[in-house]
Amino acid sequence: MNNRALSASCSPNIRVAVLGAGGLGRGMVAMLAQRSGLLCVALADTTGYCYQPLGLGPEALAGVSQVDQLPEAVPSKQAIIALLQEHGQQLDALFLAIPNLPVTLYAETMRQIAESTPFQGVVVDALKRTQAVEHLLPLDGLYRSQRLLHITGAGATPGFLTTVAAVAAQSFVEVLSVDIHFGVGVANWEAYRATIREDFLHLEGFDAERVQAMTDAEIESELNAREGLLHLTNMEHADDIILELAGVCPRDRVTVGGVVDTRHAKKPVSTTVTITGRTVSGAVGSHRFVVSDECTMVDNVCGPAVGFICRAALLHQHGTYGLLNSAELMPRFKPKTMPYQASSLALPQADEALLAAGV
Ligand code: NAD
Repeated sequence: MNNRALSASCSPNIRVAVLGAGGLGRGMVAMLAQRSGLLCVALADTTGYCYQPLGLGPEALAGVSQVDQLPEAVPSKQAIIALLQEHGQQLDALFLAIPNLPVTLYAETMRQIAESTPFQGVVVDALKRTQAVEHLLPLDGLYRSQRLLHITGAGATPGFLTTVAAVAAQSFVEVLSVDIHFGVGVANWEAYRATIREDFLHLEGFDAERVQAMTDAEIESELNAREGLLHLTNMEHADDIILELAGVCPRDRVTVGGVVDTRHAKKPVSTTVTITGRTVSGAVGSHRFVVSDECTMVDNVCGPAVGFICRAALLHQHGTYGLLNSAELMPRFKPKTMPYQASSLALPQADEALLAAGV
């Protein structure tokens, strides 16, 4: 198969481990079962890991609330590292859907993977917070030496919506603002504990320390006081640092907020991304992208993450290693004057690899 055909069809047989078996991890297992060229072969959570070289589908998870309940599971309190130490060489890609609380968890987990396991493939994450990305940045050199390629911020927001903004920016000579406003509806908050718990960080009177110390019963009682609705503004969301690193605009021009209904699957509001910019002629205009209300949070996180796994696998095959973010894989925005210093990571290397791959 030539490179162009490979890129169009997605590399065959990408063996994926899903790390985190909550709402998004399970959603990813279901998504992978309906996409071709990828196979979910492993799942891990805080209780253990399960490795199934012939494939692990959503039917295996029916009635199972944690991974150590699966037949052939290996119980472990360090399940991700245990899985990768044992089977790292039989895996091509990792999807990371673990909590952002503490905010260092993604970076600590990735450092351990790079330093103490034989895994040398691609990693795609669905992290959310700006600080979580900041903690990952110093790992770029380590990743290169270990032949790892990590695409960060590859869920929905950051991810899907951030990359929409990066593409929409191309109509302008300067991006003045990016406003992301999301609607999420989940019938039962306990299916997405980390996601909902982390949303509390952005409510008045809450901070990381307080939210981390809260019991599930306390979260439930706060939700009851709000009739299950969370109104979120000025969130610490990594869309800002990702768009800055990709050269689209300084992070203070990016705002993220939304409404989350924790009692109904129907979205309380439609999700939109509005990109406002100055055109060549000096006019100011806005593009607005509206996400279908039929697409759930899982669709919008796991679908794009699968696409990033496929793209990352191709880049990895062509020798690209290091840390990249989702928006850095989009058309590059290069305004004449940069009102800030964008730190480019492995991007020139990625450009070369894309050229070599003919994509
Ligand atoms: P969840 O609470 O339902 O599941 C988290 C899973 O991670 C659980 O299975 C838990 O056992 C496992 N886990 C926790 N710590 C672990 C560790 N140290 N080792 C192994 N497994 C561990 O959470 P969720 O709702 O699926 O969300 C997962 C993450 O996805 C959250 O951080 C959330 O912020 C993020 N998220 C991102 C987006 C996006 O668009 N980028 C959208 C929604 C959620």
